[in-house]
Amino acid sequence: MQRQEFLSRWIEIIKRSSATLVYKQNFVNAVLRAVRNCSTRHTYGTAWARAVVEELEGHKISPERGEIALDLRSTARKMAGYYWDQTVYFSLRQGPNPLRQPRILRGIKDLLKEYRKRSPQCAPVPFREAVFSPGLKEMLDQVVDTALEIVTGEILPRFQLKGQGKENFINYQKGADVLYLPQAAASAIVENSPLILEAVYYRWAQILEMYNTSPRINRKVRIIDTADLRDRPLSHYEKYLDIENPGRLCFYCGQPVDGESPTMDHVLPWSYLCSDDVWNLVYAHPGCRPGEYGRVLPQFFMARLEKRNSALLEKLAAYAESDMVAGALQDAVSRGIVRKYWTLCQD
Ligand SMILES: [Zn+2]
Repeated sequence: MQRQEFLSRWIEIIKRSSATLVYKQNFVNAVLRAVRNCSTRHTYGTAWARAVVEELEGHKISPERGEIALDLRSTARKMAGYYWDQTVYFSLRQGPNPLRQPRILRGIKDLLKEYRKRSPQCAPVPFREAVFSPGLKEMLDQVVDTALEIVTGEILPRFQLKGQGKENFINYQKGADVLYLPQAAASAIVENSPLILEAVYYRWAQILEMYNTSPRINRKVRIIDTADLRDRPLSHYEKYLDIENPGRLCFYCGQPVDGESPTMDHVLPWSYLCSDDVWNLVYAHPGCRPGEYGRVLPQFFMARLEKRNSALLEKLAAYAESDMVAGALQDAVSRGIVRKYWTLCQD
């Protein structure tokens, strides 16, 4: 009798845990399906999905808790941060109509404009390092309000996650700022966060490719910290540039660039290419580049860069097969890369 009781309890436990496993798998599938199918008219769905994953990663999700309360305002603020980062570095479009970008993005652009007015000389700052003075803080709050409105009014209703049995996974009371997730669902998200984030980034990049012509969208969507974006230190390119420009003359003013580690400049904005390429690197004084950060230079400089590249290639052509940098230069010159990207990055 005792043995029987033990067995039936044991079976009960196994049943319950395998039911949880099935539930979790169902739930993750529903999340992935929602990400894959989210609207291509804007990127709110992917932005919010990323915010939810990152929000839950900060939670303690212990098994004894029945439901996890998700603070929607906090997810809205995270969304504002993603749009800030993608705009401040890369000026990515987040919707098909260049003249009428999605609401959150318009708010972020206005905020950035004000932010830059107050510190015009500054290089771009990632959202987590940005300091918002009183006037700016109110602007940011407004953007977060807008984002929250969109989350509760537009995204959530469409992000209704249904399982195979068509049961609703999400418990959401219309108009509330909190979303309740069953503990198993929340922990399924956290346990599978690398997979879900990968799907989110992929979808986000896929949508952005519809409205942006700039290269390396995938990389731009993923990375916030510019330090991560450097393939190798720029000093790696000195030995190449020195072959054509041994006096290290500034590309813009023609005077020698002094110093043990001379400064280099990306002629086509780094924010556009998101990579370091020898055909785009020149010696330059820090203050000599005309215009603001990320600004495209006048056509005159494009011709100058093309001329420099031909001269450099003449000296490096013999190494094109054995040296990757020389090979990349030859390829760029023969495909007219400078002119091609110069034209594309005007818009
Ligand atoms: Zn100079």
